[in-house]
Amino acid sequence: MTELWIGSNNKKKRAELERMLAPHGIALRTPAELGQPFEPVEDQPDFAGNARKKAQLLAQLAHGIALGDDSGLCVDALGGRPGVLSARYGGPGLDDAGRTRALLAELRSVPADRRTAHFVCSLCVCGPDGTVLAALEERCEGTLLDAPSGVAGFGYDPIFVPVEFRGAPDRTFAHLDAATKDRLSHRGKALRRLLEVLPGLLGQ
Ligand code: IMP
Repeated sequence: MTELWIGSNNKKKRAELERMLAPHGIALRTPAELGQPFEPVEDQPDFAGNARKKAQLLAQLAHGIALGDDSGLCVDALGGRPGVLSARYGGPGLDDAGRTRALLAELRSVPADRRTAHFVCSLCVCGPDGTVLAALEERCEGTLLDAPSGVAGFGYDPIFVPVEFRGAPDRTFAHLDAATKDRLSHRGKALRRLLEVLPGLLGQ
């Protein structure tokens, strides 16, 4: 297996990346292996900037090739919020379910036909000196339910219905098996594009 450092402390997100990279002979190394804190400040105005920061910092600390993933949910009725602030939406101390509840509360008066949203996933690969080797972004369009449904996945999955599963009944990301989510998701699309160049960058 070829090793790739992954600049994320989010275990569920890492699990998704891991299950898509393993069949390509790529194993993930995590920030916990560094023996020092990995706490990039996500202060950039866009997903690409934050993905780059995560990849650059980890690549330099680990002296290896690192992947940064920055992702989030952009809600049209909220002018694109929470966007880059998705992981911190609703304030400190909330878990995934709490953030989802807070978002549903803010969307209380938004009717079904205006509940459109999309997930974004920005990926960046950096070399040991911090040079950007690859950067790309993908999205996944859908709509938001008014109550959580389904138990799989993480984050806002229980309220997000991808366009492909809009209908009676609606199926959220949290209803889908891993392979189906990966086929449709922002992260799956981005990773498949990255895999067109990643093996070459890793010297496979
Ligand atoms: P970050 O990229 O670590 O800043 O965090 C992204 C946040 O966006 C996560 O904590 C989730 O709340 C949300 N998010 C990103 N991707 C997904 C997804 O595939 N499903 C559900 N929520 C997601």
